[in-house]
Amino acid sequence: MSYFKSLASLNRRALTSSIRYNSSSSTVCPLDASKLVIEKTNNPKPKKSKDQLLFGKSFTDHMLEIDWDSKNGWGTPKISPYHNLSLDPSSVVFHYGFELFEGMKAYKDSNGKIRTFRGNKNMERMNKSAARITLPEFNGEELQKLIDKLLIVDQDFIPEGKGYSLYIRPTMIGTDAFLGVGTPNQAKIYTICSPVGPYYKNGFKPVSLEATDYAVRAWPGGVGDKKLGANYAPCILPQQEAATRGFDQNLWLFGDEGYITEVGTMNAFFVFRDPKTGKKELTTHPLDGTILEGVTRDSILELAKERLPSDEWDVTERKFTIHEVQKAAEEGNLVEAFGAGTAAVVSPIKHIGYRGQDIDIPVELGNTGELTAQIADWISKIQYGEEEYKDWSRVAK
Ligand SMILES: *Cc1c(COP(=O)(O)O)cnc(C)c1O
Repeated sequence: MSYFKSLASLNRRALTSSIRYNSSSSTVCPLDASKLVIEKTNNPKPKKSKDQLLFGKSFTDHMLEIDWDSKNGWGTPKISPYHNLSLDPSSVVFHYGFELFEGMKAYKDSNGKIRTFRGNKNMERMNKSAARITLPEFNGEELQKLIDKLLIVDQDFIPEGKGYSLYIRPTMIGTDAFLGVGTPNQAKIYTICSPVGPYYKNGFKPVSLEATDYAVRAWPGGVGDKKLGANYAPCILPQQEAATRGFDQNLWLFGDEGYITEVGTMNAFFVFRDPKTGKKELTTHPLDGTILEGVTRDSILELAKERLPSDEWDVTERKFTIHEVQKAAEEGNLVEAFGAGTAAVVSPIKHIGYRGQDIDIPVELGNTGELTAQIADWISKIQYGEEEYKDWSRVAK
């Protein structure tokens, strides 16, 4: 009996998934921002003062939701007062980790315009995360339009001033009330927003890292290169272990070689000096499945290739090991190192502990390396609309 039941449900899934990916089908609705319905709150929250803002602790008055099911496709997008979700306890998100998220920010420029930074890259990545766990894909431009509308509705929550921003958390979950392990037939995208202050209030604060080889964050063929919620909970215990030994974060190593992959939840950049030529190299691990495809990482690589003089600098993506870093530091050829991600843009690294040995990285100048500070400035100028670069900054309309 149960055999036939599961066979029937398999057939149903095969059928619905063929509808899902058949773009000529008219029964399944694509995500359509023009259908947006807005219901505004009658109880606006008091706004926190700028010095009280804590990342991810307080949220704006509204949220965006769009439900999906395999028969009808994407439903009516809705912006409504921030509220609890009501889900059946059997919903697949609670059992099998059908969850993915994005992290992006909105910035107010000096003319009061609301800007987002390369959100199209976040939408592409969100679709890749969704595809990997068989959640539905969607038109990224439509979700960006909807997020723009949410930003406009909640614009009074976007703090003004350089360094201040509104953190945006687009999320997708599988919502089928069904304990069977299979592709979800129901899903929800929602987006919430949290006002945040500058990551560094009093100049840079360089971090101390524990090179971690006793736990692995990601591996080739795994899913560590996707922003799936399931990748983050397992990293807390190693982080706590590193903290007991006085380190701020993990420097994630991979393989017997000890390749440096990421710093906590940021991409890792190192600057080496070639002792023979004096030429410097900015490098980061390649996109081989063991690192998250950071939007900040991509932006840094592009700007550095374009703006650093090529007779003095090489900008590369290659595998490098903790041993190479250790040797360069001993010989005085480790110039600087930093983590890169949306939260801080760049986070200077001052120290690495590896199997009881200390690796020190120069951060003399204002608690940061020179290039690290330069990159922070390049990127924040584009984010706050002080400088236009390609289509990287988008004004919400
Ligand atoms: C989100 C994230 C990053 C940084 O990505 P950005 O798009 O630059 O914010 C890096 N590593 C991990 C593991 C991440 O989750």
